[in-house]
Amino acid sequence: MPSATRAFAATGPTTPLGATSVSRRDPLASDVEIEILFCGVCHSDLHQARNEWNNTVYPCVPGHEIVGRVTRTGASVSKFKKGDIAAVGCLVDSCRECPSCREVTEEFVLRIDPKLDPAGAAPLLCAGITTYSPLREWDINKGSRVGVVGLGGLGHMGVKIAHALGAHVTLYTTSANKAEDAKRMGASDVVISKDPAQMARNAGKQDFILNTVSAPHDINAMLGQLRRDGTMCMVGAPDKPHPPVDVFGMIFGRRRMSGSLIGGIKETQEMLDFCAKHNIVSDIEIIPIQKINEAYERMLKSDVKYRFVIDMASLKG
Ligand code: NAP
Ligand code: ZN
Repeated sequence: MPSATRAFAATGPTTPLGATSVSRRDPLASDVEIEILFCGVCHSDLHQARNEWNNTVYPCVPGHEIVGRVTRTGASVSKFKKGDIAAVGCLVDSCRECPSCREVTEEFVLRIDPKLDPAGAAPLLCAGITTYSPLREWDINKGSRVGVVGLGGLGHMGVKIAHALGAHVTLYTTSANKAEDAKRMGASDVVISKDPAQMARNAGKQDFILNTVSAPHDINAMLGQLRRDGTMCMVGAPDKPHPPVDVFGMIFGRRRMSGSLIGGIKETQEMLDFCAKHNIVSDIEIIPIQKINEAYERMLKSDVKYRFVIDMASLKG
């Protein structure tokens, strides 16, 4: 029998999120049912709730940084039992037929070391893996010089993880008041990206740049911060295109641009274990779900330190 579950949903691109009820099917033999304890608020939730990527299906219940407690398991589940802490990110299933799926067998529920604070760990499920995956793909390690652009949810995880990988980290920010926090998180240098003199002083320095910015901005200025053969990886996904890229900024210096999407389940578990080993969680502000619309507005003003996390107990209120 499908069961009714409380939720907060957007019903259109301009309507605020509000309380509603959604129908959930009974768990299958391979399913793990969890009571969600905490859910991080990603800028992608805002893009999606407001149809900024033109693909939203309404009603839309955002949220993909989930930590919860197992309440029920299907007959064939052996890795989880009732009472365990479990985590779920952006991926909940796959076709299991295409070449990519056939490369790996995946289960979509992840383990979190109980020593990590579950609220602070929730944002690892998207912000953590989205920054860990490209840092690993580009083999960032001791001696690498990494620039992270934007100190929001993704950016602050990027700074912490790149630092833990041994890199020399430079934060590029538009918010001068975030400099102290960035240094506490592991950045050695902070560059105010709006200041041409500071940008000129740092031109050509970075091996790799992780660009997490959620809005269109001057990509050419950032490309100029790369050394010869350096790569800038775009993970920020703005609603509108960036201003045009000047190819000369790539031709001179043979610089590269790439993109990266979250990360696979296996790598997400690897990231969760890496974060447990290095004691890395997100810097969070816990909110009740009733404050979600206010949180979205603050996120748009870059006024979040550095991830909102919803205490899901408030959903019962
Ligand atoms: P966020 O917390 O809002 O952080 C974005 C940061 O970008 C802000 O804190 C700000 O940092 C900077 N910024 C904002 N507007 C700017 C502007 N006009 N010019 C320059 N910098 C600006 O967002 P988030 O949750 O980290 O997500 C960031 C982006 O990544 C979103 O577009 C999201 O959809 C996308 N995303 C992609 C993936 C993926 O798989 N590729 C996964 C998750 C999220 P400063 O104040 O430091 O300048
Ligand atoms: Zn996300």
